[in-house]
Amino acid sequence: MSARIIDGRTIAAELRARVASRVAGLGYRPGLSVVLVGADPASSVYVRSKNRAATEAGLTTESIRLPADTTQAELLTIVARLNADPAVDGILVQLPLPPQISQQAVIEAIDPAKDVDGFHPINVGRLADGVPTLVPCTPLGIMKLLAAADVPLTGARALVVGRSAIVGKPMAALLLAANATVTIAHSRTRDLAAECRRADVLVAAVGKLAMVRGDWIGKGATVVDVGVNRKPDGKLAGDVAFDEAVRVAGAITPVPGGVGPMTIACLLENTVAAAERRRQPVQPN
Ligand code: NAP
Repeated sequence: MSARIIDGRTIAAELRARVASRVAGLGYRPGLSVVLVGADPASSVYVRSKNRAATEAGLTTESIRLPADTTQAELLTIVARLNADPAVDGILVQLPLPPQISQQAVIEAIDPAKDVDGFHPINVGRLADGVPTLVPCTPLGIMKLLAAADVPLTGARALVVGRSAIVGKPMAALLLAANATVTIAHSRTRDLAAECRRADVLVAAVGKLAMVRGDWIGKGATVVDVGVNRKPDGKLAGDVAFDEAVRVAGAITPVPGGVGPMTIACLLENTVAAAERRRQPVQPN
């Protein structure tokens, strides 16, 4: 038996098309501003693909490229300008930032209503409270992959390996909100393999090539591989040993072509949602 492959490229293309038709019906073009400090090659590639996808979906985009020696005060001034600009619906400051800038200070300076990454403490708190809000794009995309693949979550044992603010913690909050029984594992977890084997839904978000082996996976489990790692041959691969896992799992996301495409599609959706909420606030009865 071989696992069903959850095709993120197709599911993301469908989501991008839905976003584009939502934008077409708005009567205005939501604006996304992406700020990049320094010339990190991986970050530059991400920013280019975000801008391209946003333009294709009918958004207006602006990328603000700043030198690596930009000060925190300079970056905060730019964030304040974007907060005040009514044409800007979404602000994304590409992480990581150079060491002279506090990542937290910048995240907290972004207007929570424009925080399309969902990293602002207000949005983090709302997610923890189960209140609708802007949610980090990668875990949001994973929830959409699971829904598209009809993976049952209510009562399912879900294990999230990794507890970052960007992936692991919001992932766990979303799975909990979907009524899964959630465990979060990390580098200090005892017997990670045994924890993994118990999971009906296993999300690996670690950043260690092929760390999750085939014999760590319960028969028929759904495996979501968030990891993006470079193999010695230069190709990208995930945190899960795919060739082993595909023989045991019931469904699995590949790397590349699984979670990655969903992240950008969800950024577009978050930008449109931010625009709608800010520009067409629901009137109280
Ligand atoms: P991160 O901030 O480095 O967090 C990694 C997590 O893995 C930490 O919680 C760490 O535990 C845990 N960990 C490290 N070694 C471990 C081990 N041996 N056993 C169990 N847990 C271990 O990384 P991240 O930002 O969450 O990203 C994780 C991966 O996802 C990376 O490969 C990244 O490139 C990828 N990613 C992909 C996308 C996408 O769109 N496809 C988006 C975001 C991230 P401690 O907390 O105890 O240190």
